[in-house]
Amino acid sequence: MLDFGALDKKWQTKWAAAKLFDVDPDKRRKFFTSNVIPYVNGNVHIGHSYTFTRTDVYARFKRMQGFNTLMAQGFHATGEPILGTVERLKKGDQSQIDTYKLFGATNRDLEAFKKKGPKYVAEFWTKKITDSFHSIGYSIDWRRAFTLSIDPQFSRFVEWQYNTLRKKGYVVQGTHPVVWCPKDQSPTGDHDRLRGEGESPVEFTLIKFSHLGYILPAATLRPETLYGVTNIWLNPDAGYVELGVDDERWIVSKDAAEKLKDQMKNVKTIGGFDVRELLGKRCTEPLGNREIPILPSKFVDPENGTGVVMSVPAHAPYDWIAIKELIDSDELQIYGFEKSDLEPISVVHAEGFGELPAKEISDRMEIKNLSEVDKLDEATALLYKKEFHTGVLKNCGQYSGLKVSESKEKLTIDFIDRGIAHIMWEINDVICRCTTKCHVKILENQWFLKYSDEEWKRKVRYCLSKMTIYPEEAKNNFENTVDWLKDKACARKSGLGTYMPWDKEWLIETLSDSTIYMAYYTIAHIIRKNKIPAAALSDEVFDYVFLGKGLPKVVAKNAKIRLALLMAMKKDFDYFYPLDIRNSGKDLVQNHLTFYIFHHTALWPESKWPKCIAVNGFVNVEGEKMSKSKGNIIPLKDLVDQHGADMVRINIACSSEGLDDADWREEAIKSYRSRYEFLLSIIKDMKKFKKTSLDWPELYLQSRVQRHIETSTGFFEQLMFRSAVQSALFDATNDLKWYLRRTDKNANRNVLNGYLENMIKLIGPFTPHVCEEFWKMLGNKGFVSTAEWPIPDNNKISIEAEIGEELIRKTLSDVEEVKKIAKITPKKITLFVAEDWKFRVYQKVLRNKTGDVNAITKEIMSSGSYGKATVVFIQGLYKRLNELHPVLPRSRQFSLLEDAKQFIEKETGCKIEIEDADKTENPKGKSSTPGKFGIFME
Ligand SMILES: [Zn+2]
Repeated sequence: MLDFGALDKKWQTKWAAAKLFDVDPDKRRKFFTSNVIPYVNGNVHIGHSYTFTRTDVYARFKRMQGFNTLMAQGFHATGEPILGTVERLKKGDQSQIDTYKLFGATNRDLEAFKKKGPKYVAEFWTKKITDSFHSIGYSIDWRRAFTLSIDPQFSRFVEWQYNTLRKKGYVVQGTHPVVWCPKDQSPTGDHDRLRGEGESPVEFTLIKFSHLGYILPAATLRPETLYGVTNIWLNPDAGYVELGVDDERWIVSKDAAEKLKDQMKNVKTIGGFDVRELLGKRCTEPLGNREIPILPSKFVDPENGTGVVMSVPAHAPYDWIAIKELIDSDELQIYGFEKSDLEPISVVHAEGFGELPAKEISDRMEIKNLSEVDKLDEATALLYKKEFHTGVLKNCGQYSGLKVSESKEKLTIDFIDRGIAHIMWEINDVICRCTTKCHVKILENQWFLKYSDEEWKRKVRYCLSKMTIYPEEAKNNFENTVDWLKDKACARKSGLGTYMPWDKEWLIETLSDSTIYMAYYTIAHIIRKNKIPAAALSDEVFDYVFLGKGLPKVVAKNAKIRLALLMAMKKDFDYFYPLDIRNSGKDLVQNHLTFYIFHHTALWPESKWPKCIAVNGFVNVEGEKMSKSKGNIIPLKDLVDQHGADMVRINIACSSEGLDDADWREEAIKSYRSRYEFLLSIIKDMKKFKKTSLDWPELYLQSRVQRHIETSTGFFEQLMFRSAVQSALFDATNDLKWYLRRTDKNANRNVLNGYLENMIKLIGPFTPHVCEEFWKMLGNKGFVSTAEWPIPDNNKISIEAEIGEELIRKTLSDVEEVKKIAKITPKKITLFVAEDWKFRVYQKVLRNKTGDVNAITKEIMSSGSYGKATVVFIQGLYKRLNELHPVLPRSRQFSLLEDAKQFIEKETGCKIEIEDADKTENPKGKSSTPGKFGIFME
């Protein structure tokens, strides 16, 4: 039995002693990769294992291909994530306490976290993650590790980056809507969020309805439907306030008031307002001066928009159903209105709908009342999409005839000009890591990365066009991201981080200081080893190291750094950069991975731009999404402790490929384990194998391994690890098992040894520890981790041996099949080799696969004394043309059978006779074909 845990420790110690993964520039070609940096606000778990293991497998593959391979690893401590966990701990948040205990923190650690704060927490988890990565055997050059926002030298690097970007005009001050945490008084970037990653501000139009000097501002995404408004909805159970906006008095929900204060000038709360006094009254619709009813509805969400909703029953399912409920319950009469007061007004003609689309879709989906929220949301989304893409305005005065898709912007601008509308920004359900609900703030004079810059985008698109993206389908996602990307706030007020070098009010936020940190790996070890202080790392130093600007002697002298060190940093950067592949989960396409491309194109010439990005899916556990509530977040270390590093690595890395999600299935480990146990048993038996001759089975085995090398290398190259392991482990083991069965374990040791060595190399990147052990057991010196990746040897390919063995294998299974069907236990089996003419015809058809069946039939029939059976035979061949493969010549089939006779006899337990179908009247003989022996049992 393999003791995976013991092998892990043994080989990790040997690798470390040999400094196997510490690399410096040399004469070889280089390969540089790094994992995306994890936040040090907890330990790595099963969710990290997929991407990270894929990165390591690829690094190991490239290392064996002869590249001087650097795999680097850093850590992320910037922003709100770590501060957020400390805050939650201080609040006694049970979920945070449970998570930290699960990750291996003791009660004493938790107390220390609260007392010592974020930096301590960051250092604590950095150590834990490092241990986890050691334990799973990632081939990292640890000398180069560093932590963002903890290492002052790295912060100097960020300052240099931002000074340079600002000089180029890519960091600008501006006024933009940002997602805002009111508690932190700071913008909240994607990674500072507990919930709502990827959400950006959405623009609503506020339409100003009026009632006795009050403004009722209704928020809508569809200003064009103002022409179809029948009434206004308010929620009598929600809190509203009177708001002073310039010299107007607005009635909005309490939540809306807080948002509007962050979005408009001169806004202040005057006092509470009981909207019940408005119900049953009328207000003025600002375009046509129609007087429309003000009515109550519980579906109005005070946290969404302003708490004032304009009702368009012709086009909004919620409004349609709400009115229907009012009418059906006679409530309408209580407020003194008639059904005719709420007659729907149709203002959009859309494909597939008549006058009242909202009614039609509600009927179609059988929506009966407002409690059917899911159906209503679905109907709303469907109709919105349909009307947006195919709708044309009608009954809309001067705008009639305009496409809906073209109307929104125009109408909004016109309405604002006429003084009847405003803009309001909304965000869909974003929660800050400090657990506060975020809203949108218009931030003035804030620092932005000018991602909207067309010239910058042009460079990024050009870079993308030259890049390799795995899988290729993900390229589209990048292109879309570049298209829609707008200016992005790059600073915040709280959390850990580097101050904006020219504006110490602001810290550079977490997705903005992590765009080019890979370049820092090339110098981090030199800085640490030589204790170069942050102060010495001037912009001039980085300009020289990364951009080749300035005279080294002058730069070194000014910075008081030894010239040799400065040169060493530059040499390392020039040698290892750019990064050859970046591997990550698909959630980072829309932010980090695209920013990574942006910043590289801004700072460096084309030769240093990213070359390749591989994107993968998320991790499920036993078919279920990972979540705290399901309790299926397993720390990586626990998995390794339980199964050993190799089984964890192969089980996760090969569980999926492409953009599909990975799935951790513990059960699957058994099938991996059994293969490795089998390999161990063979390797232990090596001395027993005495055969020296090269017969067909040996030629077969030698040939098959060339196939596995070729197939799996192709899959490895594209990070298609599930397919790679299918060939390199499963198919290769099956072939090996066949060989041993075929030779009755009288195996040729040399051939077997060669086969195993190749196989161990191919599966080495997945399961490096056990493969090192096997490698040594086979008598090799050195490490398989740095052994040469095999290249297929065409001289060792024997198509004849492969077809022959396949034919025998198939014959045995055919015999089993016939036995089962005929329900007999035969004493003797006769195998017939097909008639000579069938071989001639077969070859002819095989050569003319694309030809016309009639023409071929005619040609064959005219060239010999064939009968009706031949016509039937030809037609049969054409019916399964795609399955036709080359066959062994007739004479070879006789000799193959003679050669394998003893084997088949042993396998079947029957006496075997070989007969020529040309010399028999047995109908089984006549049923034989060049690809299949006739079988007769008695
Ligand atoms: Zn917050």
